[in-house]
Amino acid sequence: MNACENAKVPYTIENIKKCMCPKCPVQANSKCAMDKLENFARGLESAREGDVPGPQDVPGMYCSAGRTTCQDLYPEEQCICNTCAVWKEYHLQNVKPTMYFCQRGRAV
Ligand code: SF4
Ligand code: SF4
Repeated sequence: MNACENAKVPYTIENIKKCMCPKCPVQANSKCAMDKLENFARGLESAREGDVPGPQDVPGMYCSAGRTTCQDLYPEEQCICNTCAVWKEYHLQNVKPTMYFCQRGRAV
């Protein structure tokens, strides 16, 4: 079963590109997240049309894919999901959990 099947937000390349998580202070000093970002950027360059990188290679889209596997985030900083186009499009202010999807799991 697809890990993102029950998610409210579709796990698509369009949404991945809109995701603000790579700019979030919660992840800013995470080596794990920055490594993923590098792999993701490299993957995008070589990706064929229609390819979507898996959640393990994307430092974001937690509202769809669920919690991060990285252990070195800093949730004391402010989540910036409410600045994201995906947040607005899917009205994520009305879902549970509220923000911090990287820590609390996907929006359902
Ligand atoms: S709402 Fe948050 S987790 Fe979802 S795409 Fe936007 S920034 Fe990423
Ligand atoms: S879900 Fe929120 S707190 Fe977590 S990385 Fe994305 S913007 Fe930051």
